[in-house]
Amino acid sequence: MCAREASARGLAVALLERAPSPGRKLCISGGGKANFTNRRLAAHHYACADPAFCEPALDAFPPQDMERLVHGWGLPVEERAHGQLFLTVPAKRLLDALVQDCRRQGCAIHCRTDVHDVAPLPGGAGFEVGTSQGLWRCRRLVLALGSPAWPQCGATGSGFRLAQALGHRLVEHAPALAPFRMAPGWLDDNLAGISLPVRIGLPQAGLSPALAADPVWQDDLLFTHDGIS
Ligand SMILES: Cc1cc2nc3c(=O)[nH]c(=O)nc-3n(C[C@H](O)[C@H](O)[C@H](O)COP(=O)(O)OP(=O)(O)OC[C@H]3O[C@@H](n4cnc5c(N)ncnc54)[C@H](O)[C@@H]3O)c2cc1C
Repeated sequence: MCAREASARGLAVALLERAPSPGRKLCISGGGKANFTNRRLAAHHYACADPAFCEPALDAFPPQDMERLVHGWGLPVEERAHGQLFLTVPAKRLLDALVQDCRRQGCAIHCRTDVHDVAPLPGGAGFEVGTSQGLWRCRRLVLALGSPAWPQCGATGSGFRLAQALGHRLVEHAPALAPFRMAPGWLDDNLAGISLPVRIGLPQAGLSPALAADPVWQDDLLFTHDGIS
């Protein structure tokens, strides 16, 4: 998205990607149908220490802009519960449209190019980027190397190491979307596959301010074969 936007604004952009093709994680998003935005999205929905951090990004690029972009790519969309927008076709179509648009805007995509290290050039002149395909120099550098979730898609968390090398401070991270596995025998086997609407409350102690403000959720709970989801 960033490469597309920067190219559309007339910058000369090179996207370096270690995998044979970029963005594979998008293909598994939203159960394969890309839950690409939410019509009711607001900064207070972000459960983090500082939800205001998201505000400038959401102001600059609100969900309606994302919806317009996807509409412009001619992809069919449906609204599901709670304002969630999904494609009605495989998420791969979203990836293909994004990559095509990126190229159309003039972005050069270099695959099988593994970034090993990054270093600032003297005098704030930009950055030197060491890759498996040689050295690159650029005036501006965006690290979008992915979270380590689903490393099969290419990201290993190497972006954290590179960001630290440039002097960035890291916020401690943890899996956010994960299954709850219960002890054997906790669940009657016959329940697996059944879902029902529930209210889920959290104990207040130790919650971040964002969660403490809204510690009860009402949504569907699914019994899985080894726990709840
Ligand atoms: C199961 C699942 C379901 C999801 N569902 C949704 C959803 O419904 N809606 C939604 O909005 N989001 C969803 N997400 C999140 C969404 O897919 C991601 O936010 C999005 O794909 C961006 O992911 P990322 O930032 O982790 O980067 P990635 O997509 O992982 O991209 C990072 C890229 O950097 C490359 N790379 C890594 N290291 C290097 C290196 N050293 N040199 C060169 N290249 C490198 C990787 O190969 C990769 O292509 C889901 C994620 C998962 C795992």
